[in-house]
Amino acid sequence: MIHTQSEAAFTEAKNYIPGGVNSPVRSFRSVGGVPPIIAKGKGSKIYDIDGNEYIDYVLSYGPLLMGHVPDCVTEAIKTAAEKGTSYGAPTLAETELAKLVCRLVPSMELVRMVNSGTEATMSALRLARAYTGRDCIVKFVGCYHGHHDSLLVKAGSGATTLGVPDSPGVPRAVAETTITIPFNDIEALEQVFAERGHEIAAVIMEPTPGNMGLVLPKEGFHEALRAITRKYGALLICDEVMSGFRSAQGGSQSLYDIDPDITCLGKVIGGGLPVAAYGGRKEIMLQVSPAGPMYQAGTLSGNPLAMAAGIAALTYMEENKVCEKLESLCAILVGGLEKAAKTAGVPVQIHRLGSMFTVFFSAKPVTDFASACACDLEAFKIYFHSMLEQGIYLPPSQFETNFLSLAHSPEDIQKTIDCAAKAFAEVAAARK
Ligand SMILES: *Cc1c(COP(=O)(O)O)cnc(C)c1O
Repeated sequence: MIHTQSEAAFTEAKNYIPGGVNSPVRSFRSVGGVPPIIAKGKGSKIYDIDGNEYIDYVLSYGPLLMGHVPDCVTEAIKTAAEKGTSYGAPTLAETELAKLVCRLVPSMELVRMVNSGTEATMSALRLARAYTGRDCIVKFVGCYHGHHDSLLVKAGSGATTLGVPDSPGVPRAVAETTITIPFNDIEALEQVFAERGHEIAAVIMEPTPGNMGLVLPKEGFHEALRAITRKYGALLICDEVMSGFRSAQGGSQSLYDIDPDITCLGKVIGGGLPVAAYGGRKEIMLQVSPAGPMYQAGTLSGNPLAMAAGIAALTYMEENKVCEKLESLCAILVGGLEKAAKTAGVPVQIHRLGSMFTVFFSAKPVTDFASACACDLEAFKIYFHSMLEQGIYLPPSQFETNFLSLAHSPEDIQKTIDCAAKAFAEVAAARK
C-alpha cells in the first residue's frame, strides 16, 4: 500500500495541530507509523487520501452502529440542517430523544443532553457530589471516563492509594479526591469503603470496561458493588458511553442486571454527531439546574441537528434489532479469529460482547488493567500493521475495543479472518 499523500498531509497537520491530531489515539503513537488521512467512508469501509480502502473496525471509536453514512441518519441530518442547526431554545426533538432514551434504558427516569462523554461523566460526578454532600469518588484502574480533572487519575502501586494525576495540569487537590482500585477486585472495594465509606459520593465504573481493551466483570462483582454503595449511601454511576446500545440495546446494565443511580451515555446516542447524556433516578436528577441547585449548561446541548441524528440512529437500531444481529455477526468473526490464532500457534484471549471485541496477545486471562498491561505489545504491533497493510483498519492500540457495524457483510468478515490468519502467522514467525 502506498501512503505518500497521507505522510505529507500528516507532516503538514503537525505544523498547525499538536501532534497533528485532535484526539491523541489517532496519531498511532503506540504502534508507530503514520496514520492514513481519511477522505471518506461508506458502509463498512473507509478510504484514505492515497485511495486505499479499509474495512473499518474503529467506527469513530464506537458511534457508527450502522456504519458510515447510513441513509436513515444522513436523511435526518439533511432535513434538520435545512431548518436550522441550533436555536438555544427548546425543541420537540429534545423531548423525543429523551423519551426514547428513557424507554431503552429504564434506570434513566430523567435525562440531560450534553455534547461529549467527558461532559456527561463530569456532570454526573458533580451531581453525585451535590446530592450526597461528599467529595470523594472511586474509580477503577484502566477505566476511562473522559479527560476532566477528577477522572484523569489511575492507581499508584498500592491497591487503594490516593489518586495521583495522569497528566500535568490536574490539581493534586482534585486528584486526591479520586480513589482508584483494580477492576473486579471486591476485596479492595470493601477495604476502601471500610476506611472511607462516609466520604465517598459515588463509584463510577464502566460496567464492561472497554478502554483497557474489552474486559468482562467477574461473577458477583456488580452485585457486590451495588450492595456496598447502597450500604454506605454512595451513588453508583454506570458509564455506558461506550457500551450503551453496543453491548446490548439496553446497555451492559441490562445484561448484568445492574440498577445504577446515574447512567452516562455517548457515542452511539448521537448517530455520529456529538451527543452524550447523563440521567438517572428522578429524585437525583431533580437536583440539576434549573429544577435544582446543581449547575450545568451548554450552548449547543440538545441542538436539533444532533438530536435528529440520535433519534434516527436509535429508532433504526430498535426497529431493525441491530444489536441482536451484530451480536451474531461478532460471534462468527471472533470464532474465526480464535481458530486462526490457534492454527498459527499464537496465544490470545479474545473477549466479545454485543458488537465489541478485543484480541489480547496474552496466554493468561485478562481481568483487569494489570493483566491487560502484561500483554505482548510487540505482537500486537506486528498484528496491527499487518492488518492495516491488508486493508483492515483496527484501533491502533492493544488497549482499545474493536467495533462492528450493521454494514459489515459476511464477505467483510471472511476477508478479515483470512487477513488475520496471515497476520497471526507473521506474529508467530517474528516470535520464533
Ligand atoms: C469515549 C468514552 C468517554 C469519553 O467520551 P468523549 O465523547 O470522548 O468525551 C467516557 N467514558 C467512556 C466509557 C468512553 O468510552
